[in-house]
Amino acid sequence: MIITLREKSSQQQVDHLTAWLKGQGIGVHLSKGEFQTIIGLIGDTTRLDTKCLEGLEIVERVIRITEPFKSANRKFHPLDTVVDAGGAKTGGGHFALIAGPCSVESPGQIFEVARRVKAGGATMLRGGAFKPRTSPYDFQGLRKEGIDLLVQAKRETGLPVVTEIMSANHLDLFGEVDVIQVGARNMQNFDLLRELGRSRKPILIKRGLANTIKELLMSAEYVMAGGNANVILCERGIRTFESYTRNTLDISAIPVIRELSHLPVVVDPSHACGVAKYVKALSMGAAAAGADGLMIEVHGNPADALCDGPQSLTPDQFDDLAGQVRRIREVAAP
Ligand code: PEP
Ligand code: MN
Repeated sequence: MIITLREKSSQQQVDHLTAWLKGQGIGVHLSKGEFQTIIGLIGDTTRLDTKCLEGLEIVERVIRITEPFKSANRKFHPLDTVVDAGGAKTGGGHFALIAGPCSVESPGQIFEVARRVKAGGATMLRGGAFKPRTSPYDFQGLRKEGIDLLVQAKRETGLPVVTEIMSANHLDLFGEVDVIQVGARNMQNFDLLRELGRSRKPILIKRGLANTIKELLMSAEYVMAGGNANVILCERGIRTFESYTRNTLDISAIPVIRELSHLPVVVDPSHACGVAKYVKALSMGAAAAGADGLMIEVHGNPADALCDGPQSLTPDQFDDLAGQVRRIREVAAP
């Protein structure tokens, strides 16, 4: 439920109403816009009488939010959320360019890529340390050592780092990680999401291979229900009958999410198509459609990559992509 307040409400009246609501066992989220103040109510509001609330002098309107996602709902928080990860902002006009290899493989590999993507305009460095692989015989990531290398690369370049968590048991290894990624395969690992709700670090949630936008927003809701509002959503392609690409980029997810939610939405074209030569076109399309950022796999030598080489760009190709995306954003920011 949301309560829109009249413009002339005094602070004392607002405090009085919020204290009363809290006394009813209801969570209160105050959102102050330039012209309007909105109180978002979280919890069981079925006992509240909307007519009675509407009768209050300071209340303009009361609306029940019918969607199952509440904190993630734009009705609840009309302005775009800006997520700040170690100084790198995403959302509300701030465009994130997250780049790096699928997995951290060695010190030389990650330091070189970090230096190159920074020079190309990346705002954050990505690299997998815990890798969710379809086969147990494939490279599983350097795990703790991978995170240590990523953190060293951050110290050398100043780029905040993004890396995936696969189990809440590993959370204490993520102390110096700036953005914790929840991979597509864990999008509905509700215990993990609940645990990340207790953290205050930005959480990037990737859409599951066969999940709807509503389900993605409900996953964000799990994190936000725990009190962590720093959520970035990621469209990374969904499984369809098409076989020329690894997945199918759902470009419509961008405007749909931006309408339904205030959370930033970034696009991962690398996993969406799985083919390096298509990544630039999808990136430009995503930027034109209003994405708040991109996450691109880049490797110094894709042919030797231990994971996802076929979809990884070389640093030179990344430079070219970043330049094209900048140009698109100059003319097409919706
Ligand atoms: C990744 O980002 O490296 C990854 C494994 O992506 P996804 O979870 O989208 O498959
Ligand atoms: Mn990958």
